[in-house]
Amino acid sequence: MRKNARGIPVNNFGDEWGGGVFIERICFEYLPDLGQWEQPERHDRHSFFLLEAGNVTMEIDFQQYHINAPSIIYMHPDQVHRIAAFKNIVVSAWAVTNDNLNAGYLKLLEDILPAAPMALNDRMFALLTEAVSLCIKFSEREKDLLYHSLLKDQINALTALVLSFYWEQRMPSGDRLSRSEFVAKAFKPVNILGNTIGIVKRMGLLDQIQLNALLMKSVEFKNAHDITERLDLTQKRQADSGETEYEIERDILLDMLYQLVKDDVAFVYGESITGLKEQGDQVEVNFKNGAPQTFDLVFGCDGIHSVVRKYWFGAEAAYSRFLQAYFSITIVNKLLIPEYTTQMYSEPGKTVMLNAYNGKTDICLAFFAEQEIAYDYRNEQQQRNIILDQFKNTGWRTAELLEEVQQSTTFYFDKLCQMKMPSWTKGRVALVGDAGYCASPAAGRGGSLAIDGAAALADAFQNCQGDYELAFAHYNHAFRPFIDEVQADVVNFGMEALIPRSQEAIDRRNKEGFGF
Ligand SMILES: Cc1cc2nc3c(=O)[nH]c(=O)nc-3n(C[C@H](O)[C@H](O)[C@H](O)COP(=O)(O)OP(=O)(O)OC[C@H]3O[C@@H](n4cnc5c(N)ncnc54)[C@H](O)[C@@H]3O)c2cc1C
Repeated sequence: MRKNARGIPVNNFGDEWGGGVFIERICFEYLPDLGQWEQPERHDRHSFFLLEAGNVTMEIDFQQYHINAPSIIYMHPDQVHRIAAFKNIVVSAWAVTNDNLNAGYLKLLEDILPAAPMALNDRMFALLTEAVSLCIKFSEREKDLLYHSLLKDQINALTALVLSFYWEQRMPSGDRLSRSEFVAKAFKPVNILGNTIGIVKRMGLLDQIQLNALLMKSVEFKNAHDITERLDLTQKRQADSGETEYEIERDILLDMLYQLVKDDVAFVYGESITGLKEQGDQVEVNFKNGAPQTFDLVFGCDGIHSVVRKYWFGAEAAYSRFLQAYFSITIVNKLLIPEYTTQMYSEPGKTVMLNAYNGKTDICLAFFAEQEIAYDYRNEQQQRNIILDQFKNTGWRTAELLEEVQQSTTFYFDKLCQMKMPSWTKGRVALVGDAGYCASPAAGRGGSLAIDGAAALADAFQNCQGDYELAFAHYNHAFRPFIDEVQADVVNFGMEALIPRSQEAIDRRNKEGFGF
């Protein structure tokens, strides 16, 4: 979490960087007196540093980074930074103010925050240095008629390139749209309920989860005239049913889990597997960037579009059960309904849901589709068009929400499906969570299921004294009835509550809530 940066001086560079765009290449062969650079400061513009040679130690938002070339360092105007040390550096630096930056890039830059320095591979570095060199040449032609426009366009192009690299590095595999993956991650709340509460208690995390839980207040079921037909108060519903449930931001939960294991587990970021091969009592894993490595066991916890599953168990289509629905999520950085509330509106086969928390609103649009729709998952505009077309005649606030969807840079679209696998293990490889038994977002408990599955596997290992074959058999056997039940509930009740297919079903849901 970012510390309070309000007391930190803002460097506006006086007139030194005229016109709001600037680029230069600097070399320091020795360590100069850093003077004021050693003090924490913020810039009044977006700053980029392409570290071409040498290394530098910096604090960004009070976190220290030792950065080796080639790397890119991006600093948002809100980010506090301080240079602690550097050695033999060659750095190309460029900066651009908000009013000179393409509005779309501005939004995307905000989306990648907090952006840590990023190591560049050879391909990225070669392309960036070439683009920077050209930009520096333009910056030296001050007498050109269109000097400022040319420089501004070129700096925007450099910014777009850096943004693409950030997105690329956050994309786990070449298989999916990076932005789509990113929005899925940004879809923050994860539900902790049922058995999972006992598991997180055993892990010593329950207190932290309780302290950080989102206090969602209510769910309102609306009609076309924006009249609330039913209001469910979240706390009352939990008290009546006797079932406690915590909703927590996904990133906060991930951070808690990370803090628990970080000293015992090696984390590698920006990597993806490209193949698995069992070699005697080991599994050889090939990686996209690094050298192959061997492991005793491999656990695929890589989500609904798991590549571990693809490489080891076969194509996704063989296990994916289409739930005859598609959904999209767009996150806007404003409140469209009162904070910490949910509103839902349905017409036969179509549902619009708004979910507001922490100053943002998720716009969820889901529709029934008898058959799967053919579309290019890389073509976001095509997916937006599917949504715009499906909801063009839908009532309530839908027209206004479609405007938001059209303008937003965050858009996620996917079919609703479940993963149904006869076995979650094969040889020395096991799948956990969505990769093996996704119940679909309609279950509203995918986060819980992933934790339950990991705990079931850990318990199986403990009970079987580490014998992996027995433990895997136990995991497949003991955990399956629960998964079957959750998945069946989604098919039998959850889908009809989420996207009722008749007016009668809508009326019933709006009268009885999700409990009917
Ligand atoms: C739109 C939407 C709404 C949802 N709403 C809710 C909700 O309200 N409540 C709830 O509890 N759950 C919800 N879920 C479901 C929940 O997010 C998932 O069920 C849960 O996150 C599953 O956890 P997981 O660890 O199995 O997979 P994920 O959380 O998907 O994690 C998989 C991880 O693997 C990484 N990865 C993927 N591929 C690769 C690769 N090739 N190489 C390296 N790493 C890779 C990913 O980056 C990610 O970090 C929702 C899901 C979606 C998409």
